[in-house]
Amino acid sequence: MRANRSVRLAVPLSMAALLLPSVSGAAERPPNVVLVFADDLGYGDVGVFGAQGYSTPHIDRLAAEGVRFTDFYVAQAVCTASRAALLTGAYPQRVGLTGAVDHRARHGISAEETTLAEMLKKGGYATAIYGKWHLGHLPPFLPTRHGFDDYYGLPYSNDMWPFHPERPGDYPPLPLIEGEETVETNPDQSQLTGEYGRRAVAFIEAHRDEPFFVYLAHSMPHVPIFASEAFRGRTPRGLFGDVIEEIDDTVGRILDTLERLGLDESTLVIFTSDNGPWLSYGDHAGSAGPLREGKGTSFDGGVGVPFLARWPGRIPAGTVVTEPAMTIDLLPTIGRLAGAPLPELPIDGKDIGPLLLGDPGAVSPHEALFFYWGRHLQAVRSGRWKLHFPHEYRSLDGPPGSGGMPGRYTQRSIGLALFDLRVDRSETTDVAAQHPDVVKRLEALAEEARKDLGDSATEQKGTGVREPGRAP
Ligand code: MG
Repeated sequence: MRANRSVRLAVPLSMAALLLPSVSGAAERPPNVVLVFADDLGYGDVGVFGAQGYSTPHIDRLAAEGVRFTDFYVAQAVCTASRAALLTGAYPQRVGLTGAVDHRARHGISAEETTLAEMLKKGGYATAIYGKWHLGHLPPFLPTRHGFDDYYGLPYSNDMWPFHPERPGDYPPLPLIEGEETVETNPDQSQLTGEYGRRAVAFIEAHRDEPFFVYLAHSMPHVPIFASEAFRGRTPRGLFGDVIEEIDDTVGRILDTLERLGLDESTLVIFTSDNGPWLSYGDHAGSAGPLREGKGTSFDGGVGVPFLARWPGRIPAGTVVTEPAMTIDLLPTIGRLAGAPLPELPIDGKDIGPLLLGDPGAVSPHEALFFYWGRHLQAVRSGRWKLHFPHEYRSLDGPPGSGGMPGRYTQRSIGLALFDLRVDRSETTDVAAQHPDVVKRLEALAEEARKDLGDSATEQKGTGVREPGRAP
């Protein structure tokens, strides 16, 4: 696998701005970017993707007025790994960040890596994150050290606190951080979604006259789920539906603000999620819709997420993209749109601008996308085909939990198996025997990836992997 150098833009910002097609006066400056990232929200948890029992009119509006990707992926179906990929444009194992780090971790994102925020700062943007970080909680790893001007939120998952349903003794009080200071511990989580949204709106208002990047990384609907009083008890789906409607409300407030400030046509708004639903939590978890399994697996229910984006005047309304793409692609794509310099170190994402902007006939720039769990290569997707390598995965063992208590998982296993996602998105029917040529081609692609990114199953370290940052 080659590093993505082809989209590097080495021209100055002023020249880069000239390269951007102009559709109106408002679009002359590099686009503002609002990236809303939900936690553990599944493929089936947004109205336009089939959600039942509550409604998401504002998130749905992104698709109606912009684009929806049907085959959009995260790199790994767990929080830290997924966020590392989103913010570096690299596979998480390349940058040494896998799993879900907690308060004991002495490592975090390396200072050598260039985050999406650092890239955009070099392009002249004001930057903020409101919500969950999860790339290391020690000071050298906080968002303010990695390109964000402003931060308010949790350093890691909202269940890593003394009220954990199964392991209450494992965690110290949960810090709520502003800048680099802990301003509260064990905060009232019913206030988080609304407060993150209010801060996002305030940042947009304060920076209306310059390019801005707001990363709204909601802590919800990761368990334990909470909604504020105004949203509790609203939906037939119960608390989970209330939580999603409150997230949807923050999207609505942002869209209202952009319209009020005349920033609609100069702002790219994206909504997606870090991984699929945590199925063992039953009524407190989301739904993967028609996709197989959920969070923590390399099936599409784990790594497949809803993706919607709106940029009036640039993205044709009602566009649907069925080509595969991944969160690693957002950094190089946004970098090109913003005329910002891409990272010096090799990354894996590619420019999906033609797909995002609805160019007719645009295709995925990836010959293959690779799905690791930690450092274990479990599956590869190329076009319509997804090949699983033999691996174990967690799956519900009996009924799921309810009311915030999880049900039990058991370990199951899958052998070498090929699925044709164009006709079998649910990964039910192994067609490896009918398509030995396809299996051979995907195995060869995987072998190339192993040399570069490693694979614990074959005990390969990989020549292209880098170390995370480590606290002294
Ligand atoms: Mg998550």
